[in-house]
Parts: sequence; structure tokens; C-alpha cells
Amino acid sequence: MMKTQPVQKNETIEVEIIDLTHEGLGVGKVDGYPLFIENSLPGEKVKILVLKAGTKFGYGKVLERLTDSPDRVMLTDESLLRTGIAPLQHMTYEAQLLFKQKQVEKVLEKISKMPDVPVLPTVGMVNPVGYRNKAQIPVRKVAGQIETGFYRKNSHDLIPIKDFHIQDPAIDQAIVVIRDILARFNVKIYDEKGHVGNLRHIIIRRGHYSHQMMVVLVTRTGKIFKHEQITEEILKELPEVVSIIQNINPDKTNVILGKESKLLYGKDHIEDQLLGKTYQISAPSFYQVNTEQTEFMYQTAMDFAGLSKDDIIIDAYCGIGTIGLSMADRVNHVYGVEIVKEAIDDAKINAFNNSIENVTFKTGSAEKVMKKWKESSIDPTVLVVDPPRKGLTEPFIETAIEMQPERIIYISCNPATLARDLKLFASNYEVKKVQPIDLFPQTHHVESVTLLQRK
Ligand code: SAH
Repeated sequence: MMKTQPVQKNETIEVEIIDLTHEGLGVGKVDGYPLFIENSLPGEKVKILVLKAGTKFGYGKVLERLTDSPDRVMLTDESLLRTGIAPLQHMTYEAQLLFKQKQVEKVLEKISKMPDVPVLPTVGMVNPVGYRNKAQIPVRKVAGQIETGFYRKNSHDLIPIKDFHIQDPAIDQAIVVIRDILARFNVKIYDEKGHVGNLRHIIIRRGHYSHQMMVVLVTRTGKIFKHEQITEEILKELPEVVSIIQNINPDKTNVILGKESKLLYGKDHIEDQLLGKTYQISAPSFYQVNTEQTEFMYQTAMDFAGLSKDDIIIDAYCGIGTIGLSMADRVNHVYGVEIVKEAIDDAKINAFNNSIENVTFKTGSAEKVMKKWKESSIDPTVLVVDPPRKGLTEPFIETAIEMQPERIIYISCNPATLARDLKLFASNYEVKKVQPIDLFPQTHHVESVTLLQRK
């Protein structure tokens, strides 16, 4: 028999918010039944409309806020919440930082059963807006007009947005400039429903220090409009642009980039600096989106690693080599592994351009290459891992433990997989401390650096 929920869809009720989910939604309970409610904070009493009432939980929308939390700041732009661009924008920055520290503590306690690990206060930004050095913006026709913006949460309806709040304002401006150029040339815009039209996304990367800009136009077909004139106009209006690329994505998919790319203008990469070293970054390569906080994060990783001239470092999931190359001057040798070939090509050039010779970069999956390194008796003293959201794999962790590095630095962008993986290290490594660092202000994303010491 189906259990009936204490609330029904379309019902209006009053509820008190008692908690926040990891995504920053307020949690209110009716007879123990949880309702997740956007734009509500613990302690607040709200009148809501029940949007959805599933068997185990439901969703509600605030109709009226009856009390305000002291952690609330007034919203400057509702669409940043509705699109999920800045889901914590209604919280004071102090409250955001505390929320992230608690989030890490919570998962370490729940998933890894490590209630005693010191989780340090989250290190935030002085000015926690306008930090993103990269934007991937869908382009659609809305009411006959070419618009750039972002999708409404859980949908593909585009909400036009000009001020993205968390992006480098020069990128926001460039998007509008390019949008207007495309409109002037009457470029066919992609229509998702019919899978027709051409231009799908504008991607922009801008070096935080260098101000070099890369523009990627993602199209459905290989045909590209009057690209010579368009390129000329872009260069005229955006003198920072050093690279224009067309990427072709013919598929009906949510994945933004396709496999094929054509260089329309300039170089196939931009350059930027981190901790005084210069890096080239190609379009398919990963690059941390918050440059200022990344420098702090790498510095933290180096401090935790306690580097010395005898150290052999493995930088797993190394991207364009930035962590290992930041460490190289202070150690004996660095080995880096990364699955994206273009990123390893960048890493090798980055080593050369910075006159660093004590590094070896390999393309491949981290778990396979680690195994090979183990078989060829490479003996790391420090292992740095910086995996994507899904975290490490069990075979990787097994090999890592067999290699017996003195210290492991685990850089994580997902506390849940971090906690899961720390459990697997637990019989051989002690978790000394975790430093959350706010790489993504105004969003619910939590980055952290963890120091593990061999027992
Ligand atoms: N440490 C780098 C990159 C971190 S992002 C920096 O700070 O910039 C994670 C990287 O892991 C990405 O570059 C991604 O391409 C790579 N990656 C994903 N899966 C991988 C795997 N199985 N093996 C090796 N690298 C992988």
C-alpha cells in the first residue's frame, strides 16, 4: 500500500527551515516528511507552495518569508538562483564559508566515520564575485531574438542573463559583444527541440593575469557562416582575443564540446600565470576556474607536502602540469599523469617554457600508469591526487598504498567521494587535517586539500 504523504502537491503550508542540503536548499519537515525549498535558510519561517510531493520527500517554493535569518543577504538577481548559477547567493559570505566547513565535517563523520579529523575554517576570497576565468554559455533564440544566458534549473529553457555575477566581468561583456555580432550576421542559432540550426554555445576563457582571451564557437555542423568577417569583427571589438576556435558537435546531447575543432584565428591556446610560472592552456585542457584561490590551494598543497630536495612527487590527474611544475624547483623529480592528451602536450611545453627538466609527464588513465610506475620501481615520497568529482578508484588506491609514499595530498572538489576514498586509505594512512578552500563562491561546490600521513 502506498503511504500517503502529509502534504499534497499545490497545497499551501507554513513550515520552519531546520537544515540545508549539500546543494544549499532549505529543509523543512512536516511530520518528519522533508520538503526541499529554494531560497530559504535555517531558522526562517516560510509560507510555501508544495510543487512536488514524492513518496519520500517533496519540493516547495517560497510564497512569503515570515522571518529572516541573520545569515540572509538580499538577492540582487533572482535569475542567478533560478538557473543555479549562484545557488548560495542569498547567504552572507561568512555563512557560506561556515556551511562548506560543516559540509566537509558532516561527510567525514557520516561516510568515513572520522569525527575527530580537524577540518580547518574555509579560506574564502576577499571579493567573492567575478572570479570565473571561463564561461560556457548556451545561445538560443527566445521570442525571435538571439539570447545568451543560462538554463532554468532542471530544464533547458534559456533565461537571458548579461551579468553572471561570478564570472570575470570582461567575459560577461565579451559574450554580449559576440552575441550581437552573430545577430548582425544572421547566424543560424541551434534549436534543441528540432536539433536544427547551427550555433550552440559560446565558450570563453580569459587569463586572469595575462588577459589573453580564447573564444570557442560550438556549432552543430561543420559549416560556418561568414566566419572570416565574424572573426574580423570579434578581433576589432575584443582586442584581447588571441585565439578563435570552431568546435563541431553534431550530436543530440548535453555534452557541450564535440570531437572536431578548427582553428579560425590565432593560436590554439592562451597563456596565463600561476605562482609566477607561465602556462599554456589548450581548449580541451582542464584549467582551474578561480585563479586567485587556485594559487592559495597549490600553496597549501605544497605546505602540507613539506617538500625537500630528496622528494619524488607523483602528480596524479595533473591536467596541464600546474601542481607538479609549481613543486618541481624544490624536489628531486616530478611524475605527472593525465588522461587528456592535449593537456599532457601542454604540460610538456609548460615544463620546457619554464626551464624545468626534472619532470616526466605521461598520458593515460591514472590507475594504469600508476601500476606501470610501480612495476618500474618508481618510489614516490609524496603523492598528490586531484581527481574529478567521481574521485579515485579502488585499484588506484591499492596501488597508491603499495607504493608507500610518506604523505598523500588529496585535493578534492567533492567531499562525498573524498570521504569514501579516505576510508579506503584508513588502515595505512592517518588523516592529519583538511583545509576547505572556497574556489566557487556563491555556489554549493566545496573544494578541499587533505593531508594523509603514512602510519
Ligand atoms: N591538477 C590539475 C587538474 C585537475 S582536474 C589542475 O589543478 O589544474 C582533474 C583532471 O583529471 C582533468 O584534467 C581530467 O582530464 C583528468 N582525469 C580524469 N579522469 C582521469 C583518469 N582516469 N586518469 C587520469 N586523469 C584523469
